Amino acid sequence: MKGIGASPGIAVGKTLLKKEEEIEIDRKEISKEQVSQEIDKLHSALAEAKESLKELKAETAEKFGEEEAEIFGAHLMILDDPEVIPAFEEKIKNEKLNAAAAVKDVVDQYAAMFSAMEDEYLKERGADIKDVGKRIIKILLGVNTMAEKMEEEVIIIAEDLTPSDTAQLETDKVLAFVTKEGSRTSHTAIMARSLGIPAVVGMGEGLLKEAEDGVEVIVDGSSGEVIFSPYAAVMTEYQEKLKDYEKEQERLQIFKDKKAVTKDGKEIEVVGNIGSTDDIKAVKEYGGEGIGLFRTEFLYMNRDRLPTEEEQFEVYKKAGEEMGDQPVVIRTLDVGGDKELPYLDFPEEMNPFLGYRAIRVCLERDDIFEPQLRALLRASAYANIKVMFPMISSVVELRTAKAKIAELKAELNEEGKAYNDEMEIGMMIEIPAAVMTADQLAEEVDFFSIGTNDLIQYTIAVDRMNEKIAEMHTPYHPAVLRMVKKTIEAGHAKGIWVGMCGEAAGDELLLPFLLGAGLDEFSMSAVTILRIKELLTKWTEEEAAVKTKEVLELKTAEEVKDYLNKIKK
Ligand code: PEP
Ligand code: MG
Repeated sequence: MKGIGASPGIAVGKTLLKKEEEIEIDRKEISKEQVSQEIDKLHSALAEAKESLKELKAETAEKFGEEEAEIFGAHLMILDDPEVIPAFEEKIKNEKLNAAAAVKDVVDQYAAMFSAMEDEYLKERGADIKDVGKRIIKILLGVNTMAEKMEEEVIIIAEDLTPSDTAQLETDKVLAFVTKEGSRTSHTAIMARSLGIPAVVGMGEGLLKEAEDGVEVIVDGSSGEVIFSPYAAVMTEYQEKLKDYEKEQERLQIFKDKKAVTKDGKEIEVVGNIGSTDDIKAVKEYGGEGIGLFRTEFLYMNRDRLPTEEEQFEVYKKAGEEMGDQPVVIRTLDVGGDKELPYLDFPEEMNPFLGYRAIRVCLERDDIFEPQLRALLRASAYANIKVMFPMISSVVELRTAKAKIAELKAELNEEGKAYNDEMEIGMMIEIPAAVMTADQLAEEVDFFSIGTNDLIQYTIAVDRMNEKIAEMHTPYHPAVLRMVKKTIEAGHAKGIWVGMCGEAAGDELLLPFLLGAGLDEFSMSAVTILRIKELLTKWTEEEAAVKTKEVLELKTAEEVKDYLNKIKK
């Protein structure tokens, strides 16, 4: 079976099925006199639920980090919601229902409403309400809420894992997660990545039909492959793969504390991409020498309002401080396209990727842009922070964004608040218009970072989310490679450094091409860092430059791929 590979790595082990627990609820008609009794019961259960959520929030903050803990903040908010609690009470009063049944009815109603929504974020809110409802009902019925103890290492199979499920798991006994629901940005996926546990999500209906408890299963978190009760031969094949993978990881450890250098001793920056401060741990474990892309979108997700300047300041400062004097490139908000924020209430668009997204939103909305830039500036007083704008398509946008920074610096001066006046300002190159004017843009920034994920999409006119044409979304297309080369040349001609933070930066095959083209910084998912550091030691710049020239002569993506495979070391 195949799902969405959400956290890389291979796991072989026994399944532990976490079925949605069915809690038996007696529906009782109550007398008029019992109404106030049931309402009292409801309130003491709500108080207890609040206490346990507060504890869980603190525990999760410790185990996974503040951002994951925020989800319990959202649960706590449901318990304070001015609509939900009266709805419970009304149900008890009007329908003469016992508290547990009333809570269940109201929660089911809300959950159904949310699950019917198209929006992925709102669907998740439905799951949150269900999670909170289950907690209250269990308390009302006196059912034990402690997680079961796991005897041995297991692979968890579940419909979806709620944050409370994950927080209560003994994660050191979990070899992998496989879930029926979810996407790359669902809680399970994010938690799995920050724990470094392989995960496959979005398996669909088939999963719970096929899966049994306690059987052997193979999980490949990179390809999304999940094989239940495999034949002996397949099992052996994967056990070998797993062994090779582990051996390879062990072998690569020698590069962890070494600087990334080419065969001829040129220092190259090999850094990591992160979505939260929790991901920093993995970047360090894999020997990353900084952060080349901090996607700040996740700070804005799974909540119902914008994060404040203060909240953001704390996160950016923490990220900077955790990296010591190493660079941390923080990208300003890149929403729109596939990343929606329901509380911003954007109108539906025909072509979201060509629409109101990223810098276009920020330049129009001071209430979003200003707190983020102020937070970034203030954090720059404490660490080696650089700021980067996404989706720049013209000099005008870049100048407007920079003017905003200048304006906020003046504001901070007046308030006597510290910032680094020399903080580097860079931009992503992910739109062909930016490539074609890179020589002009380079005069106004300190660095470029090439975002190949979008650059490919806009260059070849191929939707990065559409599975049907996924094959066409390739960095090997000659047009993309020429764009990359042109960008690096334009940047260097104006004396600025050029990095890459799209997936292509961690592509082993492309390494000689990128090195030969003169790329200064490679930013990627933590897991590929060590291998790229190793490969760099096998090439001199001159040798790679010869290959780059030859690649640029080729006419098709297939020819490029074949050629890169041939020269691979
Ligand atoms: C890119 O487009 O290559 C990129 C790094 O940004 P994102 O994937 O977040 O759009
Ligand atoms: Mg992008």
